[in-house]
Amino acid sequence: MGRFSGLKVIWEGLRGQTGWTPMWRDPEPKAEYDVVIIGGGGHGLSTAYYLAKEHGITNVAVLEKGYLGGGNVGRNTTIVRANYFLPGNSEFYSHSLKLWEGLEADLNYNVMHSQRGLINLFHSDGQRDAFVRRGNAMVNQGDDAILLDRDGVRKHLPYLDFDNVRFPIYGGLLHPRGGTARHDAVAWGYARGADQRGVDLIQNCEVTGIDIEGGVVRGVQTSRGPIRAKKVAMIVAGRSSQVAAMAGMRLPIESHVLQAFVTEGLKPVINHVVSFGMGHFYISQSDKGGLVFGGDIDFYSSYAARGNLPMKEHVMDAAMTLMPMIGKAKVLRSWGGIMDMSPDGSPTIDKTPTEGLFVNCGWNYGGFKAVPGSGFSTAHLIATGQHHAPAAKFRLDRFLTGRGIMDEEGTGAQHNLH
Ligand SMILES: Cc1cc2nc3c(=O)[nH]c(=O)nc-3n(C[C@H](O)[C@H](O)[C@H](O)COP(=O)(O)OP(=O)(O)OC[C@H]3O[C@@H](n4cnc5c(N)ncnc54)[C@H](O)[C@@H]3O)c2cc1C
Repeated sequence: MGRFSGLKVIWEGLRGQTGWTPMWRDPEPKAEYDVVIIGGGGHGLSTAYYLAKEHGITNVAVLEKGYLGGGNVGRNTTIVRANYFLPGNSEFYSHSLKLWEGLEADLNYNVMHSQRGLINLFHSDGQRDAFVRRGNAMVNQGDDAILLDRDGVRKHLPYLDFDNVRFPIYGGLLHPRGGTARHDAVAWGYARGADQRGVDLIQNCEVTGIDIEGGVVRGVQTSRGPIRAKKVAMIVAGRSSQVAAMAGMRLPIESHVLQAFVTEGLKPVINHVVSFGMGHFYISQSDKGGLVFGGDIDFYSSYAARGNLPMKEHVMDAAMTLMPMIGKAKVLRSWGGIMDMSPDGSPTIDKTPTEGLFVNCGWNYGGFKAVPGSGFSTAHLIATGQHHAPAAKFRLDRFLTGRGIMDEEGTGAQHNLH
């Protein structure tokens, strides 16, 4: 499993790509590990990678019920940004974006991180004020934000409908370091990096039970037999409630479907990520030319990784409102993923009442950008027992006490309102 280099790519091109080897091993599960991670998505894989790289803990297994990256990490619309407003979230996503900026060099893997800039549109004076405050918070955090007036937006995005009767465009908040990355490549890069450091990545291995004795975690039951472990981390995104129930826990999580859409490949037309919050719509263009866009969650709880028609109609409606030219493009594909929606729109990285059992969940529709930061902070917590400073507010007990709630959208700490 050689490292990638320009020379190797050229050499393999010349000899018909015959010299590549699998990017990770396919090991049989061992009887016991120091750490078992349930879930081979972005967060599980990055946690394993940083456990090995930052803390030298390599006797680790990632147990994935399907195939690596087959969950939400490979289903999202790939937006990466650090434009959160509230203390707690702000420093965490700022740290995560810094990790993104060094990720390709760190993993020796092209994750196609593209800082093409993100523009959040506003449509009223009140909304402008809110974005000014957000922009100031971002700058205070050390990140970048530029307020654009209507003409400023027009310079970047001339094809928008600026005079829509319901949502005339007043301006936008530009986050130049925001952008996109290739989602599968992020999963593959972390998987390869973890495997190279000795982590066992075990696919087709569903966790069916968590073994607890006297308040201490002892291991897991799986579709490939029991595995003992000193520590276990539940990092299963949309399945968080189901897996936590195996440990007798009831999480403040509702699982909902979020859909995404992609058109046929077009010539370059959208250079940024554009977010139209009032219409619950956002869009960017992939390197292959497809317009990639999405909207709000389907409003009912579900574990089906497919969406339903009303939300499709809503998203197309918003697209036509914002950029009528999109009506000429043909949608090629749509799909859904299962979101772990938390009441305050903010995540959890914490210990549980069971000794040695950890939980990472509640990433809502924004967990792709969190993959590096989440893995880094979760690995820190598992290895040291201490909360990593940028993620120190992601405690589960905020829902019990009401203290420390991070209501990022200002909609009240209620499911479905953010
Ligand atoms: C349509 C869509 C668009 C999105 N757009 C964005 C975006 O633009 N930007 C952004 O930041 N975020 C976005 N997200 C959110 C982001 O994708 C998720 O928050 C994030 O991927 C969740 O973390 P993960 O990668 O670890 O999840 P997953 O990839 O879902 O990983 C969890 C894994 O756990 C496994 N698992 C579950 N139960 C078990 C079990 N019992 N045993 C073993 N394994 C189990 C699953 O099979 C799965 O592979 C979007 C999501 C969707 C669906």
